[in-house]
Amino acid sequence: MKPIVAIVGRPNVGKSTLFNRLLGHRRAMVDDSPGVTRDRNYADISRFDKPFILIDTGGFEPVTEDRLLQQMREQSTMAMEEADVILFMMDARSGLTPADIEVAKMLRRVKKPVFYLVNKVDGDKLEHESAEFYTLGVDRFYTISAEHNRGVLDMVDDLMDTLPDVAEPSDREELTKIAVVGRPNVGKSSLVNRLLGYERVVANPTAGTTRDSVDTLFMCNKKPYLLIDTAGIRRKGKTVEKLEKYSVVDALRSIERADVVLVVLNAEDGVTEQDERIAGYVHEAGKACVFVINKWDALDKDNATFGLYVEKVRMEFKYLAYAPILFVSAKTGQRIGKIIASVDEVMEQYTRRVSTSEVNRIFTEATESHHAPLAHGRRVKFYFATQVGTRPPSFVIFTNQPESVHFSYERYLVNRFREAFGFNGTPLHLMFRGRD
Ligand code: GDP
Ligand code: GDP
Repeated sequence: MKPIVAIVGRPNVGKSTLFNRLLGHRRAMVDDSPGVTRDRNYADISRFDKPFILIDTGGFEPVTEDRLLQQMREQSTMAMEEADVILFMMDARSGLTPADIEVAKMLRRVKKPVFYLVNKVDGDKLEHESAEFYTLGVDRFYTISAEHNRGVLDMVDDLMDTLPDVAEPSDREELTKIAVVGRPNVGKSSLVNRLLGYERVVANPTAGTTRDSVDTLFMCNKKPYLLIDTAGIRRKGKTVEKLEKYSVVDALRSIERADVVLVVLNAEDGVTEQDERIAGYVHEAGKACVFVINKWDALDKDNATFGLYVEKVRMEFKYLAYAPILFVSAKTGQRIGKIIASVDEVMEQYTRRVSTSEVNRIFTEATESHHAPLAHGRRVKFYFATQVGTRPPSFVIFTNQPESVHFSYERYLVNRFREAFGFNGTPLHLMFRGRD
């Protein structure tokens, strides 16, 4: 989760100037048509030691005096709920105002770090005049000039100390953990042996060890992979009953530990309920998925066989429409080499990050070209979307009615994200969060 930093303050104190200062360049003119809320002012900032999402909560519409306080309250409430750190900005030139005092009172109750900024302190003279702000009873002020870049970097230093440490996405160098699941006799052991026969096994399961998490580490194209629970898969000669039990309970445990799950089907059989149960679990567990249709050699094929089989899999596993399908033979080795290529591809999507501006370009298009149905007679308004995590890619969407976003609309948004970004092989996770 990238932390969120929100700038709060009256109109004209210099919020958008600071926003641009932190961004490092002027943002392009916002070309929203009149009437469209302009509060989608956010940016991914990654030029300092820690990345964060900056939100300018700006009051953009011209405000009358009585609207001002209300708007300030809304801004501050949003910031208090959603932000990890709040930058509360005041203006040395206009001095301390009643609205400032009111907001400061609200912010004092919040348990999150608040930075009190006094802006437009362009020179030393104003530095002394900003003393009146101490009547707010705040320990530490930052006197800055957003316009002339005075004091801003000192403030950013302290901000970096305050922001939580987020592990930078080193996802890519890491180990890819693969689980191989499927009913008994579909050919899991044969596949695993084939895979390991092709690749360099670094650590082999020791014979005779108990079957608790015996994994096999192997290298392919200089990248490390971990095959989960190879002992469980390779163990043979037990009663059918035991194998049956293994394939459900243990499959679930292997799935939990995996990044990418190979769901193995037997090309000779139809899709059974057990296949569906296991695949459903892969989806719900939020893991990347590849269908491996094994024993392709054993089928009498004509031109239509391939297409019909794809259709069958898509029909039976509707919710897994994003998972690639491979047709292989563990017996002949046909297309076994494609398995790791496919694992790499879905792993890349599983750990992928899309910038907030890209997400919002697509999100805005999607919500404007097809509105969500009214909920409780009210319009469902969407503010902005941001990716907050990977494995699987997860997005937070801010809306006025988080409880009322219908499943079908969520699916619509997921599909639009997929059209735009791909995300082949990985589920996507959307979370709706409220703000009024
Ligand atoms: P916002 O409404 O809070 O986003 O404020 P803006 O960033 O649009 O700034 C309002 C006005 O204050 C603009 O004319 C800016 O040029 C000016 N301004 C912003 N920062 C400074 C500063 O540090 N010093 C001075 N003198 N003016 C500033
Ligand atoms: P598991 O129970 O899922 O681990 O399945 P096994 O790997 O033990 O395979 C079950 C049976 O299917 C064995 O008799 C294998 O020889 C056979 N088998 C595995 N893969 C293939 C394949 O690609 N083609 C054919 N024709 N038979 C296979």
